[in-house]
Amino acid sequence: MTGSTAASFTADDYRARMERAARTAAEAGLAGLLVAPGPDLVWLTGYTPPAVTERLTLLVLAAGQDPVLVVPALEAPDAQKAAGAPALTLRDWTDGKDPYAATAALLDASGRFGISDNAWALHLLALQQAVPGSSYTSLTDALPMLRAVKDAAELELMSAAGAAADATFEEIRNVPFAGRREAEVAADLDRLLRRYGHEQVDFTIVASGPNGANPHHEAGDRVIERGDMVVLDFGGLKDGYGSDTSRTVHVGEPTDEERRVHDIVREAQEAGFRAVRPGAACQDVDRAARAVIADAGYGEYFIHRTGHGIGVTTHEPPYMIEGEERPLVPGMCFSVEPGIYLPGRFGVRIEDIVTVTEDGGRRLNTTSRELVIVE
Ligand code: ZN
Ligand code: ZN
Ligand code: ZN
Repeated sequence: MTGSTAASFTADDYRARMERAARTAAEAGLAGLLVAPGPDLVWLTGYTPPAVTERLTLLVLAAGQDPVLVVPALEAPDAQKAAGAPALTLRDWTDGKDPYAATAALLDASGRFGISDNAWALHLLALQQAVPGSSYTSLTDALPMLRAVKDAAELELMSAAGAAADATFEEIRNVPFAGRREAEVAADLDRLLRRYGHEQVDFTIVASGPNGANPHHEAGDRVIERGDMVVLDFGGLKDGYGSDTSRTVHVGEPTDEERRVHDIVREAQEAGFRAVRPGAACQDVDRAARAVIADAGYGEYFIHRTGHGIGVTTHEPPYMIEGEERPLVPGMCFSVEPGIYLPGRFGVRIEDIVTVTEDGGRRLNTTSRELVIVE
């Protein structure tokens, strides 16, 4: 549910977002944007349909035209209640009518359109048939930075989501680890995130011992033992905005090597954070973090990008990765999450969400990055 998000923004906020999206699309050479239910629609209008079905719901945005939301008649009353509805023209259609013909009438017959990545193929194929001269491209590929820069109200929601994830960590470090299955600790994380206000939990990774060496391991039946390193990585949406943090804890006293690897990742995370400032390239953050790990001799064990954007979803552009030369801009929010993964042994990852400020960066996660000992 994202209902509480809608309460945070006014019709004017949504009008401004839709105008900017239409303008940016025109600058990118597109005739318009077609936005299906999902994160882009929520961000642009505050509207989440009661359910996503085969009935067409589609926002049509084109420069110089009023935004139109094509919506099934039976869902129109819900759409009317969306915070962005006053900035929209609703075009409802009843069962038995052809919504694609109605949509086609709104489109430039030979235009190229950006369409949401999560639009159903069913709808795209029908539109192609209804407007044979039209063509389509991924909205995210065409306008990757559309939602990247957050305004003050969005930053407040991002900070609150980060604080809720931090409160979750402060509690999880005190639960028993040894003798419990990863899945049980993951259930604790889920419960805590919700207690601290998350309406949606996207991931609760508990990767103990050798499982920690696989960045994609979620949580399983493995019983956590004394001596394990445990990678914790959790987040979701609170009031419509994302959290995502990782800390690696150790059950009982760590070995010198475990401490050393954790220290290297902590220094790498700090270096990545210090590289954050307006005008730096996204790849500079990756380079700064990676250099610390490579210099320590573990370069081949840092097997993923350093970070990803976050906002109304928990993974989105911009990406902190070699080759991404776009500049950082104040208001962007993304993760800085280097790691070292030693196959068959253990892994370490430390992750904070960081926002770009006028002269550097600010962490939205502030729990200790020292190696925490759990029991
Ligand atoms: Zn150990
Ligand atoms: Zn994460
Ligand atoms: Zn992340």
